[in-house]
Amino acid sequence: MKTLLLHPDTDGAIAQAGELLAAGQVVGIPTETVYGLGANALDGAAVRQIFAAKGRPSDNPLIVHIADFEQIYDLTAQVSDAAVRLAQAYWPGPMTIILPKASCIPDDVSAGLDTVGIRLPSHPIARAVIRAAGVPIAAPSANLSGRPSTTTAAHVMEDMDGKIAAVVDGGACAVGVESTVVSLAGNVPRLLRPGGISLEQLEAVLGTVEVDRAIRQQIGDDVQVSAPGMKYRHYAPHAPVTAVCGDPVRGADYISDHLTKTSGVICFDEFATRFETQIVHTIGRADDSAAQARAIFDALRAFDHTDVTEIWAQCPDDSGIGLAVANRLKKAAGFHVIEV
Ligand code: AMP
Ligand code: MG
Repeated sequence: MKTLLLHPDTDGAIAQAGELLAAGQVVGIPTETVYGLGANALDGAAVRQIFAAKGRPSDNPLIVHIADFEQIYDLTAQVSDAAVRLAQAYWPGPMTIILPKASCIPDDVSAGLDTVGIRLPSHPIARAVIRAAGVPIAAPSANLSGRPSTTTAAHVMEDMDGKIAAVVDGGACAVGVESTVVSLAGNVPRLLRPGGISLEQLEAVLGTVEVDRAIRQQIGDDVQVSAPGMKYRHYAPHAPVTAVCGDPVRGADYISDHLTKTSGVICFDEFATRFETQIVHTIGRADDSAAQARAIFDALRAFDHTDVTEIWAQCPDDSGIGLAVANRLKKAAGFHVIEV
């Protein structure tokens, strides 16, 4: 299959992406979080092509993307007051709400669960493409399963060229990590995946929010997890990663002491000069977790074009969007984490 690279400022590109989606094809779409691999969420056969293109395990459900809030009523069985308040606060934006699903959601989307994740993205191109398709769009991150997520059209082409109908090039993603996934399907709101909306922001609207323990630590294969995606190895470059958490100065010292000739380093900007002999990717200053979120997947992917045999990564603390950056790094490291 020839994968078209569509430029949204070209006449007809958005309409063409919409037509491909309406016809059951898979299209890479820019969003404010990461690029998504979209298909018609109401068409099980279209959705199965997403799983095939990614090599995604079929028990890992997809998030359904909408362009207008009202669509949530067709896709879910019940919209609680809490869901409306959350949506008013943070939609359009980088947050997915899990609710009991409506019967129109194919089992392929929900991976057989009785719930569905819904997101209203803020990216104007994402919403224009969803509107042009005329259907809600199921979309996981547009990477091969297990690899770091994609934050540019070039990343998507790296993983998906020849496997999907088209990619819409919307430039680099503004948030850079995936959406926050919060479940309102149980008695107490539960954070299943940290992302662009922080835990503190959720708590400001919902009060108490439980934090799933798979966010900070490894979960065994035999354990039932609330978000099936959390049990899989994720975000991993080819070389093994070690995440170094705690005080950044002590972390830089620890990394310096353990480098070999072929170690790569992911570090905060102010520490780059410490690692001049290595291949280094900086991800923003230690106190700027929003910049780190934008840079982290590009940094992880970049090492796959080099000969590094191991990667040392400075890891931010858990405040704000730092919780999401730290979660992605720890998962990329298979939870091989050093606390300094
Ligand atoms: P991705 O879009 O590839 O980043 O993956 C979507 C994430 O949302 C995965 O971790 C899924 O397990 C999670 N997710 C999607 N739908 C549900 C659902 N109904 N219940 C719990 N988690 C979900
Ligand atoms: Mg993903």
